[in-house]
Amino acid sequence: MTVTGAIWRAQLTSEQLAVLGRDAGTIANARPDVLVVGGGILGVAIASAVHDAGLGSVQLIEAGRLGAGATGGATGLLIPEPHQWSDPETFVDLERASLERWRYLEQLAPGGLGLVELDWIGLAPEPAGLAAHQPKNIEWLDATKIAAIVPGLAWHLGGTLIRHQARINPLRALAGLAEGLPAVATGVAATAVVVRGDRVERVDTSAGDISPGAVVFATGQPPVLDGLDLDIPSDRVKGHLLVTEPTPVRLPCTVAPVATPLEDGRLLAGGTFDYGDESPAVREEVIDMIIASLRAALPGLSGVGVSHQWCCFRPRHPDRRPVIDRVPGLANAWLTSGHFRTGILNAPATGMAIARWISADKPPPKAIAWSATRFSRAH
Ligand SMILES: Cc1cc2nc3c(=O)[nH]c(=O)nc-3n(C[C@H](O)[C@H](O)[C@H](O)COP(=O)(O)OP(=O)(O)OC[C@H]3O[C@@H](n4cnc5c(N)ncnc54)[C@H](O)[C@@H]3O)c2cc1C
Repeated sequence: MTVTGAIWRAQLTSEQLAVLGRDAGTIANARPDVLVVGGGILGVAIASAVHDAGLGSVQLIEAGRLGAGATGGATGLLIPEPHQWSDPETFVDLERASLERWRYLEQLAPGGLGLVELDWIGLAPEPAGLAAHQPKNIEWLDATKIAAIVPGLAWHLGGTLIRHQARINPLRALAGLAEGLPAVATGVAATAVVVRGDRVERVDTSAGDISPGAVVFATGQPPVLDGLDLDIPSDRVKGHLLVTEPTPVRLPCTVAPVATPLEDGRLLAGGTFDYGDESPAVREEVIDMIIASLRAALPGLSGVGVSHQWCCFRPRHPDRRPVIDRVPGLANAWLTSGHFRTGILNAPATGMAIARWISADKPPPKAIAWSATRFSRAH
């Protein structure tokens, strides 16, 4: 039987699951030094970085359960290098720094966060079009070499091999980081903001008011709250994913666009871009299309069923880059939004950037690339 829902929850212990629903409806600290609104990977990573930096007391609030948004449905790939062909250097640098930070956090967390080191192969007809300056960890393999590394692949294609990338169960990582936070309230939504002069004085929530020293909004798309004057264009792009039942068909690493190997011999496939589809429901025809192309690439999977299928929405700004900024016009409020395809990867570096910004009261170098005002006509 196929479960409709991400596989990630099924991989958690009961303790980790409990962390995702921590302190439901209870605000432990109504006067925190820093309030973080949003309990996806960005919010939790920011709260964690602020806490680790010793910037005072931190309270995080999340409207649902931790990971209820895009985070709980992501693929969880931590692969900065393939983006050098599609994204500006500033962006890829943030991702590279973030992967290093994930590795550091993996070492630090008791029992680890579940980071899995893996290589990445991108299949392609020919090497033309690859980056002119390829880093050392990138290698072009012809079709014979690919066939030797990926036995059972029906396609006669070469590919780019990139070593030392990674993946993570986003909910396990979230639970691991959230466990170390002093004050997390799930089931608590921010509803309005009271601004006096250039400062957020109060945040109204479904469980009472909070008067923070500083506030960070990490709500996926930019927050829509009474009293907060924000005009940042954004939308969201739906994606479908599936996981197969355990199979003897093995992949040595992520093989794009085919699949990523998971625990127990399962394969994770999909990551569609279903533009214009706003329904929260899984569409069977999209799942059928994903499994059909997976079986076409790996005919050995013909009798293997789908164990999990799901969809989720990527928050996106028009240029597909995130916003990481102080809220325009406010001295004690920050926001991050629109992490689109790489929010799991970007989270630790974004958390560090915001923690440093709060601490030093000045933007980090290159902050202009992530500005909230870059979409305005005047800008
Ligand atoms: C199919 C798919 C595959 C993906 N694969 C990858 C991948 O391989 N690697 C990668 O790095 N990224 C991937 N992503 C992208 C990644 O999932 C997102 O960029 C990331 O999860 C965004 O995290 P976030 O914390 O900003 O948003 P979210 O996870 O959406 O969290 C925002 C949270 O804020 C809460 N919230 C909103 N408003 C309020 C309020 N008023 N009060 C309190 N709480 C509030 C919401 O309930 C939500 O839980 C993928 C996404 C999709 C859809």
